[in-house]
Amino acid sequence: MNTPTILSINNLQVSYGAIAAVKGIDIEVREGELVCLIGANGAGKTTSMKAITGLLPWKNGDVSYLGQSLKGQAAYDRIRQGMIMVPEGRGVFARMTIVENLLMGAFIRDDQAEIQRDIERMFETFPRLKERAQQLAGTMSGGEQQMLAMARALMGRPKLLLLDEPSMGLSPIMVEKIFDVIRQVSAQGMTILLVEQNAKLALEAAHRGYVMESGVVSISGEAKSLLADPRVRAAYLGEE
Ligand code: ATP
Repeated sequence: MNTPTILSINNLQVSYGAIAAVKGIDIEVREGELVCLIGANGAGKTTSMKAITGLLPWKNGDVSYLGQSLKGQAAYDRIRQGMIMVPEGRGVFARMTIVENLLMGAFIRDDQAEIQRDIERMFETFPRLKERAQQLAGTMSGGEQQMLAMARALMGRPKLLLLDEPSMGLSPIMVEKIFDVIRQVSAQGMTILLVEQNAKLALEAAHRGYVMESGVVSISGEAKSLLADPRVRAAYLGEE
Protein backbone atom coordinates (compact mmCIF):
# COMPACT_ATOMS: atom_id res chain seq x y z
CA MET A 1 0.00 0.00 0.00
CA ASN A 2 1.51 3.31 -1.02
CA THR A 3 -0.23 5.63 1.41
CA PRO A 4 1.43 7.87 4.04
CA THR A 5 2.99 6.24 7.10
CA ILE A 6 0.88 6.79 10.21
CA LEU A 7 2.94 4.85 12.75
CA SER A 8 6.59 3.98 12.53
CA ILE A 9 8.37 1.96 15.19
CA ASN A 10 12.14 1.82 14.90
CA ASN A 11 14.39 -0.43 16.95
CA LEU A 12 12.06 -0.11 19.94
CA GLN A 13 13.41 -1.53 23.18
CA VAL A 14 11.35 -1.69 26.37
CA SER A 15 12.42 -3.19 29.70
CA TYR A 16 10.89 -3.82 33.09
CA GLY A 17 13.92 -3.09 35.27
CA ALA A 18 16.51 -5.62 34.20
CA ILE A 19 14.02 -7.68 32.18
CA ALA A 20 14.09 -6.86 28.47
CA ALA A 21 10.54 -7.45 27.17
CA VAL A 22 10.85 -5.79 23.71
CA LYS A 23 14.28 -6.09 22.15
CA GLY A 24 14.43 -3.82 19.14
CA ILE A 25 11.36 -4.14 16.92
CA ASP A 26 10.51 -2.36 13.66
CA ILE A 27 6.87 -1.96 12.69
CA GLU A 28 5.15 0.32 10.19
CA VAL A 29 1.47 1.08 9.75
CA ARG A 30 0.31 3.01 6.70
CA GLU A 31 -2.89 4.98 6.26
CA GLY A 32 -5.85 2.69 5.65
CA GLU A 33 -4.00 -0.47 6.60
CA LEU A 34 -5.10 -3.12 9.05
CA VAL A 35 -1.86 -4.45 10.51
CA CYS A 36 -1.76 -7.23 13.08
CA LEU A 37 0.81 -8.11 15.69
CA ILE A 38 0.57 -11.75 16.70
CA GLY A 39 2.58 -14.03 18.96
CA ALA A 40 2.41 -16.33 21.94
CA ASN A 41 1.88 -15.36 25.59
CA GLY A 42 4.73 -13.23 26.86
CA ALA A 43 6.09 -12.40 23.39
CA GLY A 44 5.95 -8.67 24.16
CA LYS A 45 2.81 -7.59 22.29
CA THR A 46 1.11 -5.80 25.18
CA THR A 47 4.38 -4.19 26.24
CA SER A 48 4.81 -2.82 22.70
CA MET A 49 1.26 -1.49 22.72
CA LYS A 50 1.85 0.23 26.07
CA ALA A 51 4.99 1.91 24.75
CA ILE A 52 3.14 3.09 21.62
CA THR A 53 0.33 4.59 23.70
CA GLY A 54 2.63 6.22 26.25
CA LEU A 55 1.83 3.98 29.22
CA LEU A 56 5.43 2.72 29.38
CA PRO A 57 8.66 4.57 28.61
CA TRP A 58 11.16 3.02 26.23
CA LYS A 59 14.87 2.57 26.65
CA ASN A 60 16.11 2.80 23.08
CA GLY A 61 14.72 3.31 19.62
CA ASP A 62 11.73 5.46 18.75
CA VAL A 63 8.04 5.55 17.88
CA SER A 64 6.86 8.15 15.37
CA TYR A 65 3.23 9.02 14.82
CA LEU A 66 2.12 11.21 11.90
CA GLY A 67 5.78 11.91 11.18
CA GLN A 68 6.72 13.08 14.70
CA SER A 69 8.63 11.31 17.45
CA LEU A 70 6.51 10.48 20.49
CA LYS A 71 9.47 10.44 22.83
CA GLY A 72 8.54 12.17 26.08
CA GLN A 73 4.96 12.91 24.97
CA ALA A 74 2.13 12.20 27.40
CA ALA A 75 -0.50 9.57 26.66
CA TYR A 76 -3.09 12.35 26.64
CA ASP A 77 -1.31 14.16 23.78
CA ARG A 78 -1.50 11.05 21.65
CA ILE A 79 -5.26 10.84 22.20
CA ARG A 80 -5.65 14.47 21.18
CA GLN A 81 -3.81 13.63 17.98
CA GLY A 82 -6.19 10.81 17.22
CA MET A 83 -4.32 7.77 18.50
CA ILE A 84 -7.01 5.86 20.33
CA MET A 85 -6.77 2.46 21.98
CA VAL A 86 -9.29 -0.18 22.94
CA PRO A 87 -7.44 -1.73 25.87
CA GLU A 88 -7.14 -5.38 26.76
CA GLY A 89 -10.04 -6.10 29.12
CA ARG A 90 -12.14 -3.33 27.44
CA GLY A 91 -12.05 -0.78 30.32
CA VAL A 92 -15.65 0.39 29.95
CA PHE A 93 -17.00 2.72 32.63
CA ALA A 94 -19.05 0.14 34.52
CA ARG A 95 -21.29 2.55 36.41
CA MET A 96 -22.15 4.61 33.38
CA THR A 97 -24.76 3.82 30.76
CA ILE A 98 -23.94 2.88 27.19
CA VAL A 99 -24.72 6.38 25.96
CA GLU A 100 -22.60 7.97 28.71
CA ASN A 101 -19.71 5.70 27.77
CA LEU A 102 -20.05 6.76 24.14
CA LEU A 103 -20.05 10.41 25.15
CA MET A 104 -16.87 9.83 27.17
CA GLY A 105 -15.27 8.59 23.96
CA ALA A 106 -15.96 12.00 22.42
CA PHE A 107 -14.51 14.02 25.31
CA ILE A 108 -11.87 15.63 23.12
CA ARG A 109 -14.48 16.90 20.68
CA ASP A 110 -16.80 19.89 20.94
CA ASP A 111 -18.90 19.46 17.79
CA GLN A 112 -22.13 18.54 19.60
CA ALA A 113 -24.32 17.97 16.55
CA GLU A 114 -21.70 15.70 14.96
CA ILE A 115 -21.29 13.81 18.22
CA GLN A 116 -25.01 13.03 18.24
CA ARG A 117 -24.80 11.92 14.64
CA ASP A 118 -21.87 9.65 15.47
CA ILE A 119 -23.83 8.06 18.31
CA GLU A 120 -26.54 7.20 15.78
CA ARG A 121 -23.86 5.78 13.47
CA MET A 122 -22.54 3.62 16.32
CA PHE A 123 -26.05 2.35 16.93
CA GLU A 124 -26.24 1.33 13.27
CA THR A 125 -22.93 -0.51 13.44
CA PHE A 126 -23.70 -2.03 16.85
CA PRO A 127 -27.49 -2.56 17.06
CA ARG A 128 -27.10 -4.30 20.43
CA LEU A 129 -25.85 -1.05 21.94
CA LYS A 130 -28.96 0.75 20.74
CA GLU A 131 -31.23 -1.79 22.41
CA ARG A 132 -29.28 -1.31 25.64
CA ALA A 133 -28.65 2.45 25.40
CA GLN A 134 -29.62 3.20 29.02
CA GLN A 135 -28.18 0.03 30.57
CA LEU A 136 -25.19 0.28 32.89
CA ALA A 137 -22.10 -0.86 31.01
CA GLY A 138 -20.93 -3.06 33.91
CA THR A 139 -24.02 -5.26 33.55
CA MET A 140 -23.35 -6.10 29.90
CA SER A 141 -21.74 -9.36 28.70
CA GLY A 142 -18.05 -9.47 27.80
CA GLY A 143 -18.82 -9.36 24.08
CA GLU A 144 -21.20 -6.45 24.48
CA GLN A 145 -18.58 -4.59 26.52
CA GLN A 146 -16.02 -5.22 23.76
CA MET A 147 -18.44 -3.72 21.24
CA LEU A 148 -19.02 -0.75 23.52
CA ALA A 149 -15.27 -0.25 23.99
CA MET A 150 -14.81 -0.23 20.21
CA ALA A 151 -17.71 2.14 19.67
CA ARG A 152 -16.39 4.44 22.41
CA ALA A 153 -12.99 4.52 20.70
CA LEU A 154 -14.58 5.29 17.33
CA MET A 155 -16.45 8.21 18.94
CA GLY A 156 -13.04 9.89 19.26
CA ARG A 157 -12.72 9.76 15.43
CA PRO A 158 -9.32 8.06 15.54
CA LYS A 159 -6.65 8.49 12.90
CA LEU A 160 -5.10 5.33 14.30
CA LEU A 161 -7.15 2.73 16.16
CA LEU A 162 -5.23 0.37 18.41
CA LEU A 163 -6.97 -2.86 19.40
CA ASP A 164 -5.40 -4.92 22.18
CA GLU A 165 -6.58 -8.55 22.21
CA PRO A 166 -10.22 -7.88 21.27
CA SER A 167 -11.08 -11.61 21.23
CA MET A 168 -9.84 -12.29 24.74
CA GLY A 169 -12.30 -14.15 26.95
CA LEU A 170 -15.13 -14.11 24.42
CA SER A 171 -17.22 -17.00 23.08
CA PRO A 172 -16.48 -18.10 19.50
CA ILE A 173 -19.70 -16.50 18.23
CA MET A 174 -18.87 -13.18 19.90
CA VAL A 175 -15.33 -13.34 18.52
CA GLU A 176 -16.78 -13.76 15.01
CA LYS A 177 -19.04 -10.74 15.56
CA ILE A 178 -16.21 -8.59 16.85
CA PHE A 179 -14.08 -9.50 13.85
CA ASP A 180 -16.96 -8.74 11.49
CA VAL A 181 -17.00 -5.24 12.96
CA ILE A 182 -13.20 -4.91 12.73
CA ARG A 183 -13.34 -5.87 9.04
CA GLN A 184 -16.21 -3.45 8.45
CA VAL A 185 -14.42 -0.55 10.17
CA SER A 186 -11.26 -1.38 8.21
CA ALA A 187 -13.19 -1.49 4.93
CA GLN A 188 -14.40 2.05 5.67
CA GLY A 189 -10.76 3.15 5.58
CA MET A 190 -9.76 3.18 9.25
CA THR A 191 -6.07 2.66 10.02
CA ILE A 192 -5.79 -0.14 12.59
CA LEU A 193 -3.06 -1.86 14.56
CA LEU A 194 -4.44 -5.07 16.02
CA VAL A 195 -2.68 -7.06 18.73
CA GLU A 196 -4.19 -10.51 18.87
CA GLN A 197 -3.45 -14.02 20.08
CA ASN A 198 -5.92 -15.57 17.68
CA ALA A 199 -3.47 -15.56 14.79
CA LYS A 200 -5.80 -17.11 12.23
CA LEU A 201 -8.59 -14.57 12.67
CA ALA A 202 -6.16 -11.68 12.85
CA LEU A 203 -4.30 -12.68 9.68
CA GLU A 204 -7.53 -13.38 7.81
CA ALA A 205 -8.71 -9.84 8.57
CA ALA A 206 -5.41 -7.96 8.19
CA HIS A 207 -3.49 -6.62 5.20
CA ARG A 208 -0.10 -7.23 6.80
CA GLY A 209 1.20 -8.88 9.92
CA TYR A 210 4.15 -9.10 12.28
CA VAL A 211 4.95 -12.16 14.37
CA MET A 212 6.59 -11.49 17.73
CA GLU A 213 8.64 -14.08 19.58
CA SER A 214 10.51 -13.43 22.84
CA GLY A 215 10.62 -9.68 22.31
CA VAL A 216 11.65 -9.59 18.65
CA VAL A 217 9.76 -9.63 15.33
CA SER A 218 10.61 -13.01 13.86
CA ILE A 219 8.50 -12.94 10.68
CA SER A 220 6.58 -10.19 8.89
CA GLY A 221 4.84 -9.66 5.59
CA GLU A 222 1.53 -9.68 3.74
CA ALA A 223 -1.12 -11.39 5.86
CA LYS A 224 -1.84 -13.83 3.01
CA SER A 225 1.79 -14.94 2.83
CA LEU A 226 1.94 -15.33 6.60
CA LEU A 227 -1.16 -17.53 6.51
CA ALA A 228 0.62 -19.74 3.99
CA ASP A 229 4.01 -19.68 5.76
CA PRO A 230 4.85 -23.15 7.15
CA ARG A 231 6.52 -21.62 10.23
CA VAL A 232 3.40 -19.60 11.05
CA ARG A 233 1.14 -22.55 10.29
CA ALA A 234 3.09 -24.85 12.61
CA ALA A 235 3.56 -22.43 15.51
CA TYR A 236 0.41 -20.29 15.46
CA LEU A 237 -2.29 -21.93 13.38
CA GLY A 238 -2.12 -25.35 15.03
CA GLU A 239 -1.17 -27.15 11.84
CA GLU A 240 1.58 -29.65 11.10
P1 ATP B 1 0.09 -11.81 26.58
O1 ATP B 1 -0.60 -12.13 25.34
O2 ATP B 1 0.17 -12.96 27.54
O3 ATP B 1 -0.34 -10.53 27.24
P2 ATP B 1 2.32 -10.41 25.45
O4 ATP B 1 2.88 -10.83 24.16
O5 ATP B 1 1.42 -9.25 25.46
O6 ATP B 1 1.64 -11.61 26.16
P3 ATP B 1 3.81 -8.96 27.42
O7 ATP B 1 2.67 -8.87 28.38
O8 ATP B 1 4.18 -7.76 26.66
O9 ATP B 1 3.56 -10.14 26.41
O10 ATP B 1 5.08 -9.49 28.22
C1 ATP B 1 6.38 -9.56 27.65
C2 ATP B 1 7.39 -9.98 28.71
O11 ATP B 1 7.51 -8.97 29.72
C3 ATP B 1 7.01 -11.25 29.46
O12 ATP B 1 8.18 -12.00 29.68
C4 ATP B 1 6.43 -10.75 30.76
O13 ATP B 1 6.64 -11.68 31.79
C5 ATP B 1 7.23 -9.49 30.99
N1 ATP B 1 6.46 -8.50 31.75
C6 ATP B 1 5.25 -7.98 31.41
N2 ATP B 1 4.84 -7.07 32.34
C7 ATP B 1 5.82 -7.03 33.28
C8 ATP B 1 6.01 -6.28 34.49
N3 ATP B 1 5.10 -5.39 34.89
N4 ATP B 1 7.14 -6.52 35.19
C9 ATP B 1 8.06 -7.39 34.77
N5 ATP B 1 7.97 -8.11 33.63
C10 ATP B 1 6.86 -7.94 32.90
